[in-house]
Amino acid sequence: MRNFSYEALPMKVDFGFGKFQTVSEELERLNIKRALVLSTPPQEDLAREAEKLLGDGCAGVFAEAEMHVPIESARKARKLAEDLGVDGYVAAGGGSTIGLGKAIALESEKPIIAIPTTYAGSEMTPVWGITDDGVKTTGKDPRVLPVSVIYDPELTLSLPTDMSVVSGYNAIAHAAEALYAPDKSPIISLMAEEGARALLKSLPSIVADGTNRAARSEAFYGSWLCGATLGATTMSLHHKLCHTLGGTFNLSHAETHTVVLPYVLAYNLVDAPDALEALRRATGSEDPAAFIQKSSVDAGAPAKLASLGFRNDDVELAVEMATKNPYKNPRPVTKDAISRIVKDALNGEDVYVGKY
Ligand code: NAD
Repeated sequence: MRNFSYEALPMKVDFGFGKFQTVSEELERLNIKRALVLSTPPQEDLAREAEKLLGDGCAGVFAEAEMHVPIESARKARKLAEDLGVDGYVAAGGGSTIGLGKAIALESEKPIIAIPTTYAGSEMTPVWGITDDGVKTTGKDPRVLPVSVIYDPELTLSLPTDMSVVSGYNAIAHAAEALYAPDKSPIISLMAEEGARALLKSLPSIVADGTNRAARSEAFYGSWLCGATLGATTMSLHHKLCHTLGGTFNLSHAETHTVVLPYVLAYNLVDAPDALEALRRATGSEDPAAFIQKSSVDAGAPAKLASLGFRNDDVELAVEMATKNPYKNPRPVTKDAISRIVKDALNGEDVYVGKY
């Protein structure tokens, strides 16, 4: 018998090659007259292109976004926004740039137009994160949800293949956990299955040729769906564990998600039969955990946490941190289970549903 609750998030999504060129129409629609454009230093060219497209609608460019949103850069951007008297933000880039937009919007309550260029999915969520003195604090606030998202696959053609792969598996991880989330719902499960399918199908073509426009379009479509599932549900063991590994041991975000996902699925899918069936359909494999491990490594992703700088001596603390606060998960989050998962992920051991 069905039993669920679902709340649609209020945002507009425009998707398609060339949509970036229409960004000024979007500002006009939202009555934004003085936008601050955000990017990372390597993507300043993209920010400058946005500046040109916006003309008088652009009050300035802040091309200093950094990974994990250090509080100092958020403060600097907030001050610039205040000085310039901006009435909205255009965040053009990956999760780090969109994260900076959210950190500013958290205090100023001005609308964000997100123009994502990776598959991380932050543009679809009301989740923010700020790092102060090495500690990353995250929270959920509807004020930071972008009001408008422009997905232009053209902007992903420059995303290096290795980053495309791990970013894609980062997105698939959102979908996988949305399928067994405590607040899952039928519409989100459909989106999750389709999002994972679209990414798994297109990533090998991107590895073969990063300029394959059809594959880039399909992958971005998948990442939109996966991001939407992240924004609509509460994540479990996989995201908590990756948050710990990233935050405490400074392991890189998307790579960590890619390595850890098969191990958590091997553990959780035993007690999440609907998610197992959906992922069987999405992967076309009887064993989604084994499939995701093999397909990611075949696509060139790292196979073990040891390759990311994690060490045997770190296991105990990682297990301690990941089991400190209780949260909902299909199976109990015990120290013994997490220890086996982390040790196997450290060494890149083969995995299959039911191994744990
Ligand atoms: P990123 O934004 O840090 O980008 C990595 C690098 O790739 C940057 O130098 C960036 O400029 C560059 N880049 C991005 N797109 C490019 C492109 N198309 N071509 C060339 N270079 C490009 O990486 P990410 O994985 O997108 O984001 C990771 C961050 O996002 C983490 O801090 C993570 O915690 C956060 N995140 C937040 C949420 C959320 O809901 N709040 C969701 C997912 C990720």
